[in-house]
Amino acid sequence: MAVSALVISEAESATVTAAIAPLRLDTCNTFEDLVGRVAAAAGKEITIHASGDERWGPLTGFVAHSDSRFTVLVRHTDLAIYQSHSVLHEFGHILIGIPLGLELACDRDFDTPDERAAETIAMTLGKRINLPSPYGELLAFA
Ligand SMILES: [Zn+2]
Repeated sequence: MAVSALVISEAESATVTAAIAPLRLDTCNTFEDLVGRVAAAAGKEITIHASGDERWGPLTGFVAHSDSRFTVLVRHTDLAIYQSHSVLHEFGHILIGIPLGLELACDRDFDTPDERAAETIAMTLGKRINLPSPYGELLAFA
């Protein structure tokens, strides 16, 4: 497995900063608190389910949404730490506000600006709530 640094552009960094600003992370310390803040920023309730498995292949999580709710789904067969990171990655997508519909194709090679921003948000949120990154500091597996 190759290891590469996750490098984001200044524009992507600005996207991340703007996306997480409403969360007021300086006063956020728990995962439950974070879920509430992301929901408030997005204007919808958030439900999280660990229901997928190896049949999902490389897909580790996705978001479905309705007018009133985001539903984040992750694989129940992943380690808890990776499930949490996958949830935070999907929070990144929610916060940057991309059209979600049913997101089935997160690009885990981080070849798109939205994927790099979502992953950077996941690492930023994980640090804030003291969730160890499954990748270590600023590294991503590709
Ligand atoms: Zn993604």
